[in-house]
Parts: sequence; structure tokens; C-alpha cells
Amino acid sequence: MILYDGFIKDIEALVHACDSVFPYSEPALKDAPKSNIMLLKDTAFELGGSSQPNVSTLAVSSDMHFDNCTYLIGQDLYTIKRDCAFGKIVLLEIADVSEDEAFEKIKELELVRYKYCPEGFMTRASALSMREQIRVGKKTVNKKISFKEYGNFLIKKYLSFPLVKSVKVVFITGDFDYTSLSVISEKIKSTTGALNHIFDNILFDCNSCNLKEICDEVEGMKELHRKTVQK
Ligand code: SF4
Repeated sequence: MILYDGFIKDIEALVHACDSVFPYSEPALKDAPKSNIMLLKDTAFELGGSSQPNVSTLAVSSDMHFDNCTYLIGQDLYTIKRDCAFGKIVLLEIADVSEDEAFEKIKELELVRYKYCPEGFMTRASALSMREQIRVGKKTVNKKISFKEYGNFLIKKYLSFPLVKSVKVVFITGDFDYTSLSVISEKIKSTTGALNHIFDNILFDCNSCNLKEICDEVEGMKELHRKTVQK
């Protein structure tokens, strides 16, 4: 699966100057309970809260290797005092399987952000808007929990999928070019939407298809649809 590679390169160029890099180590954070509710009175602040810029995206590649590190641009959790802008990027190296198999797995991998949350946090995510707001508990801040811990937790979850070979997680707080990140995230979402269209056996007619713009941009998409209808 190399259809997202161009967008991953664009993301890497956008986040090249990080403030901290945390190599993976065994996570100290446990899973939050199943019915995880964090009330406002227990919340120190919300990442991406108060209508601040907020972008969350995930992309996979079978020919790019990542270093299992957590990268941070901006302030770490225990130094943040109030709701702030927030970005979260997950890049995954996956095994080189067929596009249709990879597509099925991408859908499962996208569910990780809804299914798993570490204790001391509460996630509110929307696939439609590519937003992911995270409430951070007062106790979490008092314990000086870092993005390093959150990243380790996520990396372990992703590596538990046999298909996933390596991971890179990037957290962004405060000032950043969220507009450019949002544009790339929308293209990633559109690419997944086009794959959905292709594997739904929908007619191969680019001239009447509303996904033409993204398929014109992503190398290999039209070829994939052509191959799929010929099967
Ligand atoms: S390849 Fe053409 S028909 Fe298929 S999803 Fe893309 S634009 Fe639509």
C-alpha cells in the first residue's frame, strides 16, 4: 500500500522541526475503564477544546519505515494550563499485503482512537471532521504525565496488530500550521473514501465520479480501480 506515501512525505516536511523525541519504552499508562467519563470538574484542560484548531490523522505505508518514537511540537502536557490547539498524527508501516486487504485493516486501525484511551484521559473523536479532542485530568497533570507516556500507550496498541511493523506518533500543541495539516488530512480521508468506492465495485467512470480530484492526485488510484473491475 503506497497510495498515501505522497501525503506522508508532505506531513514529514511539515513536522520536521520537533521540540522533543521520545523513543518507545513499555507504557506506564493502563487502559481507561470501558465507560470512561471525565467530568469538567475533574478536567485540567482539553487538547483541541474551546473551538481551538484541532486535526487528527492516520496514514499507512508498506514501503516507509518509522522509528517507534513519539514526537512533540509545542508544550508537554504537564506545562499546559488551559485548553489549547492540538494536532495528532499517526504514521504506520504495514506489511505489503494486497490493497483490498490493507483497506480492510485501515478501517480497523482507524478505530483505535475510538476504542483505546489511557487512564487519566478522555477522547472525543469525530471521523467526519477529522477532529480529536482529549480531556486531560487534573490528577494526570499533577502526576506530571508526559506525551511520552501517551505515545508509548498508543504505539503499543498499534504494534499489537500483526500487520503493523513500525509506528510514528506526532503530537502538536499551541502554534502550528494547522491549516496545511488539515488540507493533507482531508486528502488522506478522501483517498480512503476513494478506496471504499473502488472496493464497493462501483462503476469505473472517472468522468462522472465525484472522487476524480483525489484520484487525479494520488498515483496508482485509477490503475487500482481498473485492475479491480477486471478481476
Ligand atoms: S478511479 Fe475514477 S472511478 Fe474510480 S474512484 Fe477514482 S475517480 Fe472514481
